[in-house]
Amino acid sequence: MDPLTHVSLAACAAMAVSARPKRRAAGFAGALAGLLPDADVFIRSAADPLLAVEYHRHFTHAFAFQPLTALLALGIATALRRVAFGPNTPRAPFYAVLVAALTHPFCDWWTSYGTRVFWPFTQDRLALDWVSVIDPLVTLPLIVLGVWGAKRRSAALPMLALGCFALLDRESWDAWRGTCFSRRCNNNEPPNTCKRSGNAPA
Ligand SMILES: [Zn+2]
Repeated sequence: MDPLTHVSLAACAAMAVSARPKRRAAGFAGALAGLLPDADVFIRSAADPLLAVEYHRHFTHAFAFQPLTALLALGIATALRRVAFGPNTPRAPFYAVLVAALTHPFCDWWTSYGTRVFWPFTQDRLALDWVSVIDPLVTLPLIVLGVWGAKRRSAALPMLALGCFALLDRESWDAWRGTCFSRRCNNNEPPNTCKRSGNAPA
């Protein structure tokens, strides 16, 4: 999924679960947590061009790694906010940043590019193939309602953004229904190669 969707979804998720005095701090740290997993693009070597391909969507995209992502995002965001607003500026709650960080592997798992979401328990690259990588219609409400929510320190607006995300992302709903109700996986087909097939029931 594209970075803008990751950042706006993660920020909305963090703001939605935070108390009002810490909501802006949570939105900022959450946005950072939504972005950090894709820092794996910097793992590369001139001597080995395949290294970048091997490590994209690797351990940084695992659910098990997200507490570390959240910790890092919280540290960077708190330091930046203290430089900008002084030492007494509110700090985002860790649980909110963790919720934000967890949205990243979830969303990448929905796309067709394999992601090691259950590393280190399995090395399989899993792909649910539910959504296209970029969908502006889904991203726009997240940005508009997320920024508006941050300005007003509102929880309702980021919650509305998350609701719009869930409703507008019909591609995922349809694919999910197809997965759950039409048994798209054959018994002898590995889950990471299993693709959507057939239509969901009416
Ligand atoms: Zn990613």
